[in-house]
Amino acid sequence: TLPSPTKLVDEFMSKLSRKDPHEVEFHQAVHEVVESLAPYLMAHPQYMKEKILERMTEPERVIQFRVPWMDDRGNIHVNRGFRVEMNSAIGPYKGGLRFHPSVNLSILKFLAFEQTFKNSLTDLPMGAGKGGSDFDPKGKTDAEVMRFCQSFMTELSRHIGPYTDVPAGDIGVGGREIGFLFGQYKRLRNEFTGTLTGKGVEWGGSLIRPEATGYGNVYFAREMLKTQGKDFNGLTVSISGSGNVAQFSAEKVIELGGKVITFSDSSGYIYDPAGIDSEKLEYIMDLKNNRRGRIKEYAEKYGVKYVPNARPWAEKCDVALPSATENEIDENDARMLIENGCFCVAEGANMPSTTEAIHLYLKHKILYAPGKASNAGGVAVSGLEMTQNSMRLKWTREEVDQKLLQIMQNIHHTCVKYGKQKDGFVNYEVGANIGGFLKVANSMMAQGL
Ligand code: GLU
Repeated sequence: TLPSPTKLVDEFMSKLSRKDPHEVEFHQAVHEVVESLAPYLMAHPQYMKEKILERMTEPERVIQFRVPWMDDRGNIHVNRGFRVEMNSAIGPYKGGLRFHPSVNLSILKFLAFEQTFKNSLTDLPMGAGKGGSDFDPKGKTDAEVMRFCQSFMTELSRHIGPYTDVPAGDIGVGGREIGFLFGQYKRLRNEFTGTLTGKGVEWGGSLIRPEATGYGNVYFAREMLKTQGKDFNGLTVSISGSGNVAQFSAEKVIELGGKVITFSDSSGYIYDPAGIDSEKLEYIMDLKNNRRGRIKEYAEKYGVKYVPNARPWAEKCDVALPSATENEIDENDARMLIENGCFCVAEGANMPSTTEAIHLYLKHKILYAPGKASNAGGVAVSGLEMTQNSMRLKWTREEVDQKLLQIMQNIHHTCVKYGKQKDGFVNYEVGANIGGFLKVANSMMAQGL
């Protein structure tokens, strides 16, 4: 006899928690998946019998290493480096590197686990991994960041390769860092390969890679709106974060006729009720990317509201695109959003909504896209970068953008296929989890233990 779905979830989670009781982010991500997969798994007992969930939640390999480096004044620092090689059932390990003081094994395991489903949803041959360090790039000089990246890659280079593991960026790792990492990899291996993605366009990078996560999220949200006969034209959109994902989400929303009213960083948020137009967005891009400044300067320049130590979810909007970091929308934030009329949440960040927030979206039947579906455009174009590197050619902006759009539409289609309920409501969370799970699970079974 099979247990009830709730019992299945509880038993699985308590076993997992007993192993590593402190890994709260990882357990949150696994719980979200197992909870939404449980009814499907009970109807398809072969996956339980094969212990697929147990296998998918145990990384194939975890590498942890010391990263010593010297600052500009000659002081020595020691950081911790990681690479979680989560799942290689459908391709080489693939996923970003995060440099942020909060980085630990739990956060990287959660990200690598999400990556398993996300990469599978893109339908490109990419397994899943994630890595990074507790190094804080904030306030460091270019020379310090370079020395850190070189030290980090000195160890990582032993474990990666174009057929093994292909890292890219994530929070704190952008074009500058990928450049330093690639330079060191090439120096150590004496090989020019596509081992890292997010490279500069002049040395093997793909056009549209910087834009891909943000554009992809807006493409996905547009598909969701379409199911209700709506589009972005005239909608008010609240965006959190002010990095790569937030910037290019805003660019695409503006292009589609929507009004972007917020941006944020770890110190607070700005609220511009008139709308952040392309000119103001250009100012933000220069501020963040070239001057590494804080979003507060926008409020000073344009004379709009700046709210320190807060997130933008109390501001009235139609669509929310959380594009900063994990757990940035809690139950209370979700309630404020819904009460103020927000009817669509598409996640640009990884796991930006808490479990309680997700439950609330689903209870109110708003359009909700989990990051593993809606932010997959970034890693999708990384996959296209790998393809171009293997073929030794470069596609045009239009070609890559067209492929990105196609992939986001496919992912939307997959979510609808597996997530549509009897009353017609599409549970994108269930759809993304089943759709992402099946390909990986079936591949694991085909390849034996
Ligand atoms: N860090 C991004 C993500 O969360 C992109 C990973 C990649 O391009 O490999 O999906």
